[in-house]
Amino acid sequence: MACRVDDPTYELKIEKFKVGTAHPTGEVSVSLDHIIHRIGIGTDLHRLEPGSGLRLGGVDVPHDKRLSGHSDGDIVCHALIDALCGAAGLPDIGEQFPDTDPQWRGVDSTKLLEKIVERVRDLGYAAVNVDIVIHAERPKLSPMKAAIAERLAELLGLDAECVSVKAKTNEGVDAVGRGDAMACTAIAGLRRV
Ligand code: MG
Repeated sequence: MACRVDDPTYELKIEKFKVGTAHPTGEVSVSLDHIIHRIGIGTDLHRLEPGSGLRLGGVDVPHDKRLSGHSDGDIVCHALIDALCGAAGLPDIGEQFPDTDPQWRGVDSTKLLEKIVERVRDLGYAAVNVDIVIHAERPKLSPMKAAIAERLAELLGLDAECVSVKAKTNEGVDAVGRGDAMACTAIAGLRRV
């Protein structure tokens, strides 16, 4: 079915669109809840420094290093914020929460994410799903991925199955590979609400 997003009858046409497994009537309705209208991407990288307090996606991760930064350095929240902002057409995280502003010093980045979720909703959008890749040489993040996904799902108002968290090493290459930094890439899909 061909239709344009800026067509005012777009949603009506979608509602009449029939797809899927055969129903006795031959019709299967399509839920608008999972139709993505906009997508966005975000990345972040922070240096690692000695000390405790590593936090990823709002989850405390045991490690002998933490991420440096004006806030708590949570690269997962920061990349996700930029993905949501990109999808919604909002300014990036640096414009909305400048690192020159003392009110954001040491802030829990989940608080920033909550503000962005609210701003996105004010514009008439909500996340459908997010996909996240954490680039870290150490520690091994496999045991933490489910907890990070659950925490982010809670913050976004999504089921955990709609939040994917993946972790990769950098094969010893560059700052991430040397253990001097961690990075994150996130993508988010938004629906209308
Ligand atoms: Mg950052």
